[in-house]
Amino acid sequence: MARVKLATAWLGGCSGCHMSFLDLDEWLLQLAVLADIVYSPLIDAKEYPANVDVVLVEGAVANEEHLRMAHTIRQRTKFVVAFGDCAVTGNVTSLRNPLGGAEVVLLRSYVELTDCRPGIPTAAGLLPVLLDRVTPLHHVVPVDYYLPGCPPPAAHIRFLLEALAGGSEADLPAEMLRFG
Ligand code: SF4
Repeated sequence: MARVKLATAWLGGCSGCHMSFLDLDEWLLQLAVLADIVYSPLIDAKEYPANVDVVLVEGAVANEEHLRMAHTIRQRTKFVVAFGDCAVTGNVTSLRNPLGGAEVVLLRSYVELTDCRPGIPTAAGLLPVLLDRVTPLHHVVPVDYYLPGCPPPAAHIRFLLEALAGGSEADLPAEMLRFG
């Protein structure tokens, strides 16, 4: 069987989903037999490669960089997995949405809640360009699989990766489809 090209990506999330991935512990050795990790915050690849088989995408889409990355991932990947509740629903990352658009959020963060030197940083490239609304991944690109949980338990990640690496459909049982 050909080795699977596996990637993981980190959009607007806290990295907790990636911590759960590391909780795969010794099964990571088995995963290394099944798959090559070709892109991830856990390795040193700088550019998302072409012809990726499976990607776990942590986090919601909160800024323009996330949006570009989501489209790049979709164009270059066979199976896109919304990895964790932030990717699936927006979850914690989308809690800012009721405040209003990006400008309101920046004012709240850098002016209203600041004890000293209030002011929104203006230097080019210093802040990511926020989108007015945080959205789940499937609002901007088609998603093939949803892996809920905050974070998804390692056993659920393993179930999904074993199925996809084995070339079969990853039908998650109902007990693996819980949020939170
Ligand atoms: Fe963090 Fe939970 Fe969001 Fe994962 S789903 S990025 S653990 S807040």
